[in-house]
Amino acid sequence: MSYGLSYAGAESDYDSADAFLLGIPYDRTSSFKSGAAEAPAHIRRASYNFEELHFEHGLDLPRLNIFDQGDCEHVFLPEDMMEEVKFFISPAIRDKKFTVAVGGEHSINMPIIQCFKRNDIALITIDAHLDSRDEYLGTPYSHACVTRRAAEHLGIDNVFALGVRSISKEELERDDVIPYTTSFEIKEKGIERAVKKALDSVKSEHVYLSLDIDGIDPAYAPGTGTPEPFGLDPLDVKRTINLIGGRLVGFDVTEVCPPADPSGITSALAARFINEVLAVHSKYLT
Ligand code: MN
Ligand code: MN
Repeated sequence: MSYGLSYAGAESDYDSADAFLLGIPYDRTSSFKSGAAEAPAHIRRASYNFEELHFEHGLDLPRLNIFDQGDCEHVFLPEDMMEEVKFFISPAIRDKKFTVAVGGEHSINMPIIQCFKRNDIALITIDAHLDSRDEYLGTPYSHACVTRRAAEHLGIDNVFALGVRSISKEELERDDVIPYTTSFEIKEKGIERAVKKALDSVKSEHVYLSLDIDGIDPAYAPGTGTPEPFGLDPLDVKRTINLIGGRLVGFDVTEVCPPADPSGITSALAARFINEVLAVHSKYLT
């Protein structure tokens, strides 16, 4: 456990918190460029750039009580990361907190999804990649296996990937391809239609949104390990969060790589998406 600067506005204690934030500085399965372990600290720092209130959501939103747990231990083996994340996220989900996880690479999503009961949620990802391999570079817990592990736990009809534009042959040539929409289709037909397709496709009412920052075009989010051209623009992602709206029960942002982000623009974008999610969640808080 490490304690540094808390996320901006996270002044609540655990018991009275509506939202629970955890940093997961893990990047040991990274296939191209590592450094995502540094992201939680950079994203927390970037959170101080912004007004606490985002006026476009209305001026009288209830103020959300946010608890920032700090970062979990920086471990080496993916199995240890899985245990470490579950140790913190499991109780938060049990206590009905809205969870926000700050990666780290995308593999940090797998233990979080496994903390939910099978029929409780669907997973929607925003990602340049389908991440649906059975295993990658010798581990089933690689960041290239995220949607496959989620499909095993939630059912394949409870997983959907938005913004995909990079898929391997082995992922496409199988009977159980993870449902997805490409960034090309989103650009052609609009984000509203794509999100509707995703929400209609999944079975569970409650949706967990996992944002791999490489889903966004590298022109807007250059600081990531595996940049992939032809991506979504940030307003597509903002719109997605708002369209999921009251169905949203948890969120993670992953694959921000500060060493590849000298201007800090990618960390700032990640922080702004966390704020967006919190603002939308507070709108539906009863
Ligand atoms: Mn990706
Ligand atoms: Mn990914």
